[in-house]
Amino acid sequence: MRPLNYARATDVDSAIATVREHPDGAFLAGGTTEVDLVRQNVLRPGLLVDINDLPLDRVEDRPGGGIRIGALARMSEVAQAAAVVQRFPVISQALLLGASAQLRNMASLGGNLCQRVRCSYFRDATSPCNKRDPGSGCAALDGFSRGHAILGTSDKCIATHPSDVAVALVAMDAVVHTRGPGGERAIPIDEFFLLPGDTPEREHPLEHGELIVAIEVPPAPVARHSVYLKFRDRESYEFALVSVAAAVRVQDGAVADVRLALGGVGTKPWRARRAEQALLGQPAGATSFAGAAGEELAAATPRPLNAFKVELAQRAIVRALVSLTNGEMK
Ligand SMILES: Cc1cc2nc3c(=O)[nH]c(=O)nc-3n(C[C@H](O)[C@H](O)[C@H](O)COP(=O)(O)OP(=O)(O)OC[C@H]3O[C@@H](n4cnc5c(N)ncnc54)[C@H](O)[C@@H]3O)c2cc1C
Ligand code: SF4
Repeated sequence: MRPLNYARATDVDSAIATVREHPDGAFLAGGTTEVDLVRQNVLRPGLLVDINDLPLDRVEDRPGGGIRIGALARMSEVAQAAAVVQRFPVISQALLLGASAQLRNMASLGGNLCQRVRCSYFRDATSPCNKRDPGSGCAALDGFSRGHAILGTSDKCIATHPSDVAVALVAMDAVVHTRGPGGERAIPIDEFFLLPGDTPEREHPLEHGELIVAIEVPPAPVARHSVYLKFRDRESYEFALVSVAAAVRVQDGAVADVRLALGGVGTKPWRARRAEQALLGQPAGATSFAGAAGEELAAATPRPLNAFKVELAQRAIVRALVSLTNGEMK
């Protein structure tokens, strides 16, 4: 039996201060990740500070067409917000293709960004896992790695980042706003997610007690024409094997603006910058899309069990871009 204390915060500063005072303290939002992992003995917080009473649940319009999403806004609310549906369909679709309706009603956006990996060795407290227990080894390297990453891997960890909406937010250049002991910070979302390298236990740059307060999505006219495609083993209630967040603007038959990010294949939500560069100015058709996808995936380091993801990601990118441009599938 391990003691676990619970406190309910009423304002942002006291929530931060309470977690700061306890080295084994953690924030509790919807609890859909945190409570599972406590039950499985993977996380062992001594204190959970419930932040659900904090006034951080609004989705607000920003000047010029951007939006600011409070960290405690629920996945279901954000997915249905008119500004998100109309201006950022890729974000709405990514949310609706994640988890289940019940989970989406509980799960917050801040918690979603901080959710932990689904690697079965991480979630089995008896297996070696550098992320859970630094220096213990990585059971996935020679184990069952079908769902694991092919981009951004290291010899310490190959787990994929599991979030769907993070992929869409990375494509949209969102900014994570935090408040912590050092004051407020605005962290570009691509820098918020860290590659595993030699320190897979560090997944983001948050300090102990630093709270995500909001996620800001800057104006992006290209996003009105965007899509999120998710390929998985079953139609619902399943994480991505491969997913694609894409937005594209075509002018005179050529790609004038494009955003592309991948899920299910990277150790972090993967902005496909090589593919974006390769696409700009090229004819908007399946041949250029396939070439650009190939350039991005040339960096893949698959293992025998997940090598299929290279071809799946290649096809997924082409399908997403074709669906947005009405190009021809070949
Ligand atoms: C069966 C199942 C299926 C799922 N399928 C999907 C899926 O298909 N796609 C997908 O994207 N996700 C999926 N999820 C994950 C789900 O989306 C996350 O569990 C959820 O978004 C986490 O949000 P939460 O509010 O419940 O966070 P919590 O569980 O409360 O917290 C998660 C972590 O974030 C920290 N945290 C929470 N809020 C903040 C904050 N504001 N600032 C700093 N730290 C914070 C907590 O301390 C904790 O470490 C699934 C989960 C389950 C259980
Ligand atoms: S892939 Fe990462 S999370 Fe999974 S066992 Fe290896 S170190 Fe742990």
